[in-house]
Amino acid sequence: MQHTFAGSPLNSCQNERRDEVFVSTFLEDRRSRILPVLANGKILVDDQISSSSIRPPAQLRWLSLQEFDFQFMKESKSDVADSPSDGVVFLGVLNEIGHFAGLVQKDLSASDLLRFVSLRSLFYRLDSKELAIAGQASVLIKWREVTRFCSECGSALISKAGGFRLDCPNVRALESDPKQQNSSCSKVQVGCGAQNFPRVDPAVIMLITDGSRCVLASRPRRVGSMYSVLAGFVSPGESIEEAVRRETFEEIGLRVGEVRYHSSQPWMVGPHFAQLMVGCICWVLSGEENRELLVDAKELKDARWFSPEEAVIGLDNAKHVPAASDETFRVPPDTAIAHHLIRYFVESISKPQLPLRKSC
Ligand SMILES: [Zn+2]
Repeated sequence: MQHTFAGSPLNSCQNERRDEVFVSTFLEDRRSRILPVLANGKILVDDQISSSSIRPPAQLRWLSLQEFDFQFMKESKSDVADSPSDGVVFLGVLNEIGHFAGLVQKDLSASDLLRFVSLRSLFYRLDSKELAIAGQASVLIKWREVTRFCSECGSALISKAGGFRLDCPNVRALESDPKQQNSSCSKVQVGCGAQNFPRVDPAVIMLITDGSRCVLASRPRRVGSMYSVLAGFVSPGESIEEAVRRETFEEIGLRVGEVRYHSSQPWMVGPHFAQLMVGCICWVLSGEENRELLVDAKELKDARWFSPEEAVIGLDNAKHVPAASDETFRVPPDTAIAHHLIRYFVESISKPQLPLRKSC
């Protein structure tokens, strides 16, 4: 299953991009295209303002590298750029054409039809492949913006591998180690030289079931009566299964046994811009299905068991954009992996051949 933000058609050329000549060739190619991105991750699109509730289609606004320099870089020179290409990330190649994302410090879009917009506002308005590219561009530019200095020595980092690596320049020339003058290993590296790679923050998102019902929860700041599956970040040294069991016990007090992987989704929306949501189906241990849910009030407004019939109503209501005052029960829209975990639960119940088993 391929979720929103996955499925970019670009070949990111992870091996070739280590060669600076390879990336430079595309920077000098007049056919190359660049997508302007603000430091906050907003993307430049050809947009249409609509007063109706219908979402008008949008398109990514690709520029030539010359257009990008002319329109944005002269007026809005990035103060973190150490070289002309430092605020530019090589996203990859499609049909032999290089695709880049370019950091823009100020929103200089002058037209109502040409605007920087958030990724969230592009749901259902961009082609899924374009949305995947927009997500990549947004996360890489935001990562560059929040990773400006070496965490070990404080030096300003330098973009390498077309922006997929940030190196500390604090590496002096190799020097002789006086203790090993007669050794073949007499050369030592001096300085920091730390390398930083793009952030990916793993989080678990899990549908909890007893084999016939599922647990859904609402969060304090959610609009209306939105119920979703539980989720949480994986802690250092923790497996996916351990994270699922810990988060479930912390948030609703139930003990989980079997945990099974379902699918995953990169998620760039919101303050945690580099999440990889690892979707799981998990079964509570035998006897837990009758236990009262101990809802963590700091994290959740409510949590309870839902039947498949109730979940179907939530899925149906997720098709419509709710008004601010709408208290209709719904689950997240189909842009979120949570929607598909809940749908999988409903379809598994109605189709016994799918592996949703009773707890044991
Ligand atoms: Zn350093």
